[in-house]
Amino acid sequence: MVNNDWRFIPFKVFMSKPIVEITKEITFEAAHYLHNPQWDRAKNLEVFKKCSGFRKDDPKAIHYPHGHSYRLRVTIKGSVHSETGFVMDFKVLKGILEKEIFDRLDHRFINKETEPFKNNLKFQTTVENLLLVIWKWLDPAIKREKAALYEITLWETPTSFATYRGNKA
Ligand SMILES: [Zn+2]
Repeated sequence: MVNNDWRFIPFKVFMSKPIVEITKEITFEAAHYLHNPQWDRAKNLEVFKKCSGFRKDDPKAIHYPHGHSYRLRVTIKGSVHSETGFVMDFKVLKGILEKEIFDRLDHRFINKETEPFKNNLKFQTTVENLLLVIWKWLDPAIKREKAALYEITLWETPTSFATYRGNKA
């Protein structure tokens, strides 16, 4: 027989709050190239191909950029506030994404303008590394709003993208 008497429900069940995830997307345009300064021109072209700052048909070309229309999806999680019904107001989340991401990356030449890439030429401007940097930018801002970053996905092209959930090996 199942005991449905509320007095037998553990106290912590009353204390637990449902966690809900909410998601916002932004897009930005930016230029970059991939280049490993420890490799010669041939190896950079072999590994990075069209994304290399070199050009196959132009021996003088070096650090030549190309552009992407990036798309970023950000999912945060938190409890639903009883007064607002929000995990976080989408307007607040949008403001965070504009300040922390858009202002730093939109219409930028990432290798030359955006920290930490501009001062670390060995740190490639791949979607994977961009995600790691974006996570660091977003995490404290989301925490200040009493929520937590859950997952971020960055598209470099409509069919090429990477996802990060803050995990470490
Ligand atoms: Zn590229």
